[in-house]
Amino acid sequence: MAKQDTHNFDGATLTAEGMLYNGFVCQPVVEKCEGCERVRSFEGRDFCYSYPQPASKWSLGRCNFATHVKAETQAKVKVNPLKASKRASKGK
Ligand code: SF4
Repeated sequence: MAKQDTHNFDGATLTAEGMLYNGFVCQPVVEKCEGCERVRSFEGRDFCYSYPQPASKWSLGRCNFATHVKAETQAKVKVNPLKASKRASKGK
């Protein structure tokens, strides 16, 4: 049985508006998508198999489907600079 995650856009066609796949008109990926594992090539152009319009996905901030960009907020929460500074001043 074929793996579900191959996503080769079987049955897709290129139209003047973009790639027509599963009833969606897909636009090519944007620069920020570079390195994302969801990018797949079709007819020499790169498309996202999770989102038909990558440019509008990124226009709202970081793409939440991106596999190549880590969320930055979690790392910041773990370090409390005030406590770290107090510890340092106690000479520990
Ligand atoms: S999941 Fe997001 S970052 Fe990845 S290719 Fe699609 S739109 Fe681009």
